[in-house]
Amino acid sequence: MWMAGTSLTRQFGISVRSTLMSRSIFRASNSRRGLTAYLARASAAASANTKPLPPAPSRSVPEVVSDDLPTISMDDRKVAVGWDTRTWSRFHNIWLRDHCRCPECFHPITKQRLVNTFEIPPDITPSKVEPTADGLRVSWPSSQPHVSLYPWSWLQQNSYDPALRQRETQLEKILWSSKIQTSPPTVTYEEAMAADDRGLYKWLSHVDHFGMCFISGVPPTPEATEGLSQRIGFIRETQYGKFWDFTSDLAKGDTAYTTLALGAHTDNTYYTDPCGLQLFHLLSHTEGSGGSTLLVDGFYVASILKELHPDAYAILARTPVPAHAAGEPSSLYQPYPSSGYPVLSHDPVTGELIQVRWNNDDRSVMNNLDPYQVEEWYNAIRTWHKLLTSADSEYWVQLGPGTAVIVDNHRVLHGRSAFTGKRRMCGAYIGVDEYRSKLAVLHEKFSPRPNYTSGPEAPVTDRSVWSPAL
Ligand SMILES: [Zn+2]
Repeated sequence: MWMAGTSLTRQFGISVRSTLMSRSIFRASNSRRGLTAYLARASAAASANTKPLPPAPSRSVPEVVSDDLPTISMDDRKVAVGWDTRTWSRFHNIWLRDHCRCPECFHPITKQRLVNTFEIPPDITPSKVEPTADGLRVSWPSSQPHVSLYPWSWLQQNSYDPALRQRETQLEKILWSSKIQTSPPTVTYEEAMAADDRGLYKWLSHVDHFGMCFISGVPPTPEATEGLSQRIGFIRETQYGKFWDFTSDLAKGDTAYTTLALGAHTDNTYYTDPCGLQLFHLLSHTEGSGGSTLLVDGFYVASILKELHPDAYAILARTPVPAHAAGEPSSLYQPYPSSGYPVLSHDPVTGELIQVRWNNDDRSVMNNLDPYQVEEWYNAIRTWHKLLTSADSEYWVQLGPGTAVIVDNHRVLHGRSAFTGKRRMCGAYIGVDEYRSKLAVLHEKFSPRPNYTSGPEAPVTDRSVWSPAL
């Protein structure tokens, strides 16, 4: 079982240092050593990034117990909940009324809002607020008579003044270098296909943590591979077809259909929403050799870039890159807007890196560059390319019939070496939303978060109206 943290870094033989310490080492080595020397240290820094982040100071709040209920106070705009003597959450009255989850205000089955937000008086003020064992009970004024109950854990989870929630997604990413070759994340076909979905959960959890996973023991047929893909969700149909099964015959106007080497790239940079997952499976390779698969963790390389060349990182994070797929006369794909998207995209709320888009071959004319940043931009992509193609980043693996691989196309770049002979490859794209939905459902099933139901009415297997996702 794969776990984040020190056991993993120990397994890969990478020492973990504090970021502060690493930074000073980088500065020293930057001035007097070559790329290789400081890459080794950057590798350690990136590994440090795999450690769960410490909780934000004084942001952990005690679980509410019935004999020690929070202190409540209110004024004409807000209700304040005192979790302990030092930590308070404030909720606006209008926000509380709008978020009532009673069956009149929120449909318990469809999980859609029923309350008419626009009929709530903007200056609504509770007539009474009281702490109960089940949560905060709010009585609304006689002009709008209603009673709302908000579970304590739900209020903690959704506190915005201040934000108390710990971002879980960040904690789950495990960045990797070429050293992952000693023990790459793998599930068996049997596990992935098992009806109880436990193996599917293991498979998608690996994809979530590592951005890729191998599947061993897959029958070397397009039918079995298609069935495997469909375990996750709908196959996304594109100009290359739905489930694809191809040889190097240039059947489509794209280098993927040749025998040429392909540098590490993400797919569909020319789409507004590049596919989320890509699964591929080499069905046969006859009368020739070569064609190793290349995988590179874009988040790992980005973490090194950020550490060693923050200015280059910043320019890649802000400069949109146009792209196109134009090899077929019947289609002309460009992202919308056509100015494109940056190489590195971030969550606007948390600042967390969420997507890597990179295919230098599919790049269109860079006619939106600030004239004062043209050279700076070329220097930035040169540095990015150098880090992407370093021996430390590149994980090469020779795949054969029976072993499929799936990659998160928003994170892990893939490529291959040139080959001779005839290869038959099959695979599929799966949309990012189908993948995330399946993973969320499996999370609910196998590692449910605290149950926010406030009464005995809902069986625990039902999705609660207090689910953190709603
Ligand atoms: Zn209500």
